[in-house]
This record gives sequence, structure tokens and C-alpha cells, in this order.
Amino acid sequence: MIRYECDKCGAPLHANDPRRFIVKIEVYAAAGHIELDPEQTVDADAALKEVIEQLARANPDEVEDQTYRCLRFDLCDACRRQLLARPLG
Ligand SMILES: [Zn+2]
Repeated sequence: MIRYECDKCGAPLHANDPRRFIVKIEVYAAAGHIELDPEQTVDADAALKEVIEQLARANPDEVEDQTYRCLRFDLCDACRRQLLARPLG
């Protein structure tokens, strides 16, 4: 039997426990599409090369944090109620 515990308070929970709740949090960049100016000329190859070089030097976790991160937690009923009362703490 898989045993779970509340990720906030440590209370023991079971897989089919009606007091066990799953919380998923997605955080992602809200940037929309980029407006391009047809009058402005851009060296696309140079710009792409620069992005690739920056990514090669970057920490993969930091790059992921800047674009998309999904978190998942198990919570007991009491911690679920606290979360819903003040989702952002
Ligand atoms: Zn809890």
C-alpha cells in the first residue's frame, strides 16, 4: 500500500483517503506574441545564435523556472482549507 503524508504538516494519508487532496500549481510566463516591426531589419541567424549561446551557459533549472514550472502536493483536509482561505499566503 502506498502511503502518503501531507506535504505541509506531515499528517499520514492513504491513497484513497477522503481527507487527502492533491494540489497542482502551474507557473508560466504570461508573455504573449511578439510584435514585429516590418521596417526593422533583424539578423535572424545572429539573434538565434545569441539565444543558443545564452542557453548553453544558463542553468537548466533557472531556464525552466523562467518559462514553466508545475508543482504537485498532497494535502490533508485542514491544510487544504488553509490553502483555499489564503492561496497566496
Ligand atoms: Zn496537513
